[in-house]
Amino acid sequence: MKKKFQLLSNLLSVFYPRLCISCGDALQENEEHLCLHCQLHLPETNAHLSAENPLEQIFRGRAQVQDTFAFLSYRKGNCVQKILHQLKYKGNKEVGAYLGEMYGRKLAQSGKLADADCILPIPLHPKKKKVRGYNQSEWIARGLSEATGIPYATDILVRNTFTETQTKKSRFNRWQNVKDVFAVVQPDRLVGKHVVVCDDVLTTGATTEAAIQKILEVEGTRVSVVTLATAQ
Ligand SMILES: [Zn+2]
Repeated sequence: MKKKFQLLSNLLSVFYPRLCISCGDALQENEEHLCLHCQLHLPETNAHLSAENPLEQIFRGRAQVQDTFAFLSYRKGNCVQKILHQLKYKGNKEVGAYLGEMYGRKLAQSGKLADADCILPIPLHPKKKKVRGYNQSEWIARGLSEATGIPYATDILVRNTFTETQTKKSRFNRWQNVKDVFAVVQPDRLVGKHVVVCDDVLTTGATTEAAIQKILEVEGTRVSVVTLATAQ
């Protein structure tokens, strides 16, 4: 049966070759999403290996964050842009789990996040989730969880929804909306825990900051941030 499946799979690949999402070359049987060459040349930040992690400064003075790690450096036109495009707009959620797992293994090997209790993906705006059909951060969290053994939960950190009219009210209200864009439900599940917030890209950190603040309101929590990419 396995042989038959293999034969079918080989046959299919003649007509529909699986391609590397970065360079477009046909993938070998043992390769997934990225060819070996592209995988070996991923622009890793290696932030988890440096004593002076440059990503730490993103939240300085804004939110108390224990560790901030991002796997890859996003630059316009580089392979990370292609990967994120696949993940967000081409329905390739599996690449999120694949790279999340790859990064999870690296973090675990370097002893990072060893005392973390749970991973919470940043929830997507419901409208966007409806269009996309999935939350890409959740798929990254799945991969991270698989590699590190840290469980992930999608029913603790949730996104509030606001109507259009509410967001147009006034500047003060707009700030209120940003501040309260997330909510922690079932806060008892986070008391005293080291929480890892997981997102796809870290840019200015404004959205992530709003989520961190809500988590830190729960007694005894500590927060770290892990993202697939950073534009910093
Ligand atoms: Zn490639």
